[in-house]
Amino acid sequence: MTIHEFINRSEESFGDKRYSPGQRAAIEAKCWHFTERELNAIYSDLLETCKTLPLVAHIYASARSMNMLERKEFKPHRWQPSDCGLCRGEGRLGIIWRLTFEERPTGVCEIQELTELFQYTKSLQVALKPNHYRSIFRCRCLAGEADTIPKAWPKWSNDSNARREVWL
Ligand SMILES: [Zn+2]
Repeated sequence: MTIHEFINRSEESFGDKRYSPGQRAAIEAKCWHFTERELNAIYSDLLETCKTLPLVAHIYASARSMNMLERKEFKPHRWQPSDCGLCRGEGRLGIIWRLTFEERPTGVCEIQELTELFQYTKSLQVALKPNHYRSIFRCRCLAGEADTIPKAWPKWSNDSNARREVWL
């Protein structure tokens, strides 16, 4: 399974809790390098060992128990500057979202609004304000297809929503 499937299946299988956007972003950022086969094994292990919605620490403890962390070699992402107005050639985007909550007659609604979109390395230099979080995307340009960028990262497109509403 992909990291997104892992997150969704975990939400279905571990009680009635859901991940916050920050927890989701943390899992995406820390766990994208596991292969689909590894994520299957981790998921299966966590079903047996973890009593709560698994967070990064649980996932890493499971991966470590199966010796998955030893042989990870670091593959640096190299890129050439380009005229892409979004990623400038890096292929990776960091997007900063602002979270607000609204009481509606039908319940509480979480609203995620895009506040800034940068090339990823630039986004890391931004100190996050309270209620803001960062998530990673592949750019829609050719640089986003580089093989040093995980295909599991969502791809930013013209149709991507800059404002999302999630019912809690
Ligand atoms: Zn680009």
